[in-house]
Amino acid sequence: MAHAYHLDDMNKLVSLAKRRGFVFPGSEIYGGFGNSWDYGPLGFLLKENIKAAWLRAMVQERDDVLPIETAIIMNPRVWVASGHVAGFTDPLVDCKNCKQRFRADQVSGGRCPECGGELTEPRQFNLMFKTYVGPVEEEAAIAYLRPETAQGMFVDFKAIVDTMRVKLPFGIAQIGKSFRNEITPGNFIFRTREFEQMEMEYFVRPGTDMEWFDYWVRQRYDWYVRYGIRTENLRLRQHEPSELAHYSRCTTDIEYRYPFGWGELEGIANRGDFDLRVHEEHSGEQLRYFDEETREHIRPYVIEPAAGATRSLLAFLLDAYDEERISEGGKEDVRTVLHLHPALAPYKAAVLPLLRNRPPLVDLAREVYTRLRRHFYVVYDETGAIGRRYRRQDEIGTPYCLTIDFQSLEDQTVTVRDRDTMEQVRVHIEELVPWLAGHVTG
Ligand code: ATP
Repeated sequence: MAHAYHLDDMNKLVSLAKRRGFVFPGSEIYGGFGNSWDYGPLGFLLKENIKAAWLRAMVQERDDVLPIETAIIMNPRVWVASGHVAGFTDPLVDCKNCKQRFRADQVSGGRCPECGGELTEPRQFNLMFKTYVGPVEEEAAIAYLRPETAQGMFVDFKAIVDTMRVKLPFGIAQIGKSFRNEITPGNFIFRTREFEQMEMEYFVRPGTDMEWFDYWVRQRYDWYVRYGIRTENLRLRQHEPSELAHYSRCTTDIEYRYPFGWGELEGIANRGDFDLRVHEEHSGEQLRYFDEETREHIRPYVIEPAAGATRSLLAFLLDAYDEERISEGGKEDVRTVLHLHPALAPYKAAVLPLLRNRPPLVDLAREVYTRLRRHFYVVYDETGAIGRRYRRQDEIGTPYCLTIDFQSLEDQTVTVRDRDTMEQVRVHIEELVPWLAGHVTG
């Protein structure tokens, strides 16, 4: 079945996300908290699966990229060296009338977009969250919550080179939380103050950097397609020289067609040797790679594919969302379905006894459920008509429904119903684990 629907109303997704346990407003019983969001049971599993899919492609399926996990609060000198203390700012304007704040580059005309009031002159606002380390709230103890995960890879470059017998080109990858005191968070989980990133720094010989840059742009674009994003909702956008970040020689964004328009999903940058150079200067340590052949100490260039785990979760949900008119079991119906890639779907299968008041069906269903959950996240549901139970699973993207019916009692097979085609096949209980494994891996 071709899936052509394009969700142009974010509220529909926000509502489904809340109703079905993907994303809840943060601190809701206290009236929320400035665009913070919590991930519910389904959102948590989806996010874990997205991160696993990223690791699979970026680390597990390659032999040149190593994973690390570095501290969220680092030595503050890291952020002086990287340029974030001096320059990680957005221009901020205040409305003199209603006191709302805006990013100067996002308002035009000099008048408040909310009330038409007069705006102040822009001033630079640093996006890093400050905190104090230790018991004394004094200047010396100021530290920052990291605004990106990338610096962890540069700071640990030497430790990796010294211990891991790497050969150029090689990469260091990390997934983790980052924090930015965004002036205008919004569009659901598109822009939040606390978010998760999936970043990789790929170190290459100077001179080969543009080749590798093109390579990573292609790899990353293909990754989104591999995990189900439709190509008509993806595009590449190369930055103009005037919008390049201070560290970047060249940047291409992978953009997604959100309900509010095209926006960044991931940025791929050629950072040259900017980072290793400034950390050499500020730390006094040599951050080089020793080339056994030429006997030279090389300072590599770096290509950085920087993706958002939470922002891509939004794109995966939006792209999967569909409302379909269907006919199933002889009945006309409209269903909401998430066509999530099976590897990303929170639950891989639902186990459903046809009737809840027939103990042999329920017993066998519980047995199948117990057996499967050692291998996969699966869900058990015995309440309501079977059609309604299918709809519930469609709405959370469960790729397979396994129904235990009267035939199951006779021949130990179950009905496997495919979420997308709604077609059914019978699979022997003994075969279910390998059958599912073959259908839900990425
Ligand atoms: P923008 O221009 O949208 O502020 P950026 O260019 O500063 O983003 P990067 O610093 O390149 O973003 O971060 C890499 C990725 O991290 C982004 O492509 C995005 O997926 C994610 N990301 C960055 N900021 C946020 C945020 N505030 N909320 C959610 N995800 C974010």
